[in-house]
Amino acid sequence: MNAFTNLGLSESLTQPLEQLGYSEATEVQERAIPAIIAQRDVLASAQTGSGKTAAFVLPLLDKLRQVKPAKGRPIRVLCLAPTRELAQQIDDNVALFIGELPLRHAVIYGGVPIKQQIRDIGNGVDFLIATPGRLLDLLSQKQLDLSQVETLVLDEADRMLDQGFQDQIQKVLNQLPEQRQNLLFSATFNDKITKFTHGLLHDPFIVQCQRLNKAADDVKLIIYEVEQNEKPDIVYYLLANNTQQCLVFARTRRNANLVDAYLREKGMSCAALHSDKSQHLRTQTLQKFKDGDIQILVATDIAARGLDIEQLPLVINFDIPRHAEDYVHRIGRTGRAGMRGVAISLMGGDERSNVAAIEKLIQQQIFIAAIPYIDSNNSFEYDSEIIASASSIQPRKINKPSGISRRKTSTKPGKPRAR
Ligand code: AMP
Repeated sequence: MNAFTNLGLSESLTQPLEQLGYSEATEVQERAIPAIIAQRDVLASAQTGSGKTAAFVLPLLDKLRQVKPAKGRPIRVLCLAPTRELAQQIDDNVALFIGELPLRHAVIYGGVPIKQQIRDIGNGVDFLIATPGRLLDLLSQKQLDLSQVETLVLDEADRMLDQGFQDQIQKVLNQLPEQRQNLLFSATFNDKITKFTHGLLHDPFIVQCQRLNKAADDVKLIIYEVEQNEKPDIVYYLLANNTQQCLVFARTRRNANLVDAYLREKGMSCAALHSDKSQHLRTQTLQKFKDGDIQILVATDIAARGLDIEQLPLVINFDIPRHAEDYVHRIGRTGRAGMRGVAISLMGGDERSNVAAIEKLIQQQIFIAAIPYIDSNNSFEYDSEIIASASSIQPRKINKPSGISRRKTSTKPGKPRAR
């Protein structure tokens, strides 16, 4: 017996988990798996990186495994995700957990040729992962039949509602049988989602692992208050002597391109990821980053969810996100699965209200650090001292933003400022 068989999963699924390094179940897995096996609807909030994909994929595969598929191999599990990258990642997990089991899965999303996807699903699949747009496209072409779906999973449901997918989701729901299991997973919950779930979930089993909308404990949150026009330079200096991988988030595609071009011009290993890039390039760039072939990825919020990169130690917010929830997701790209991480946000004068909204959401004051001095090699000393002091937050007041050129004359890392 291992930790996962104790939760009611069969050995054919749990045995390979040990080789994957899953020796203990995470909190969300411990609580959600038995409820999913018991056929309950589940409403789960768990912080990003907490292992929620396995929490729903494992029990669903176990159920699929136990019942022989009907003739024509209908889709029995449908999982909807807001971004192509997240859909792909869920599918990668499904493939991993299926291993040698005789189960079929497929993923469908836009931006890639539809023909191959039609062929994939035409052969019959048990577990389908999809983004709503392409799914509806295939439904309207009568290439899909969802009338035998036994379980619907909505991952990152709040994002789907935020991105205006509500009408699309409703259209998908209309195609599903009324009798089914519904599983709703999200790291952040808001009013919209609570309202939406009323009609969807029946007597749901609630899994609330952490306080809602919380940042992972192992992620140090730091803000540098800067002038907008200093930001590219500061990102460069922060990364100049850094050999580890870093994800830089920008609010707009334009800013992502700008930072990417700036860093590449400085000779850094960098690429941009946003929705103006072709899906082929998006997939390729992400893979290169995951393989460690690119050191810095500059992305819009399409990368805020769904990216699971082993031990990503640093996230930089070039812009403060407009929606506070996005901050939680962005910083969730670091400190995953119990690892330590650092999330640095560059706050321009006009972004203070966004920071205030974030602090309210995460119920935590974010440490405003003094911009570290730039040494004679033109690199930032920002690591140990700043990070160590980030844990002792005092209420503080910001007086005036300081410019990068002024700091060049300084010889010591500054003390944390009051705000
Ligand atoms: P997720 O929150 O589903 O994106 O998972 C975050 C990361 O944790 C992924 O790399 C998973 O492979 C990993 N993971 C999930 N469950 C476990 C577990 N029980 N033990 C170790 N790693 C896990």
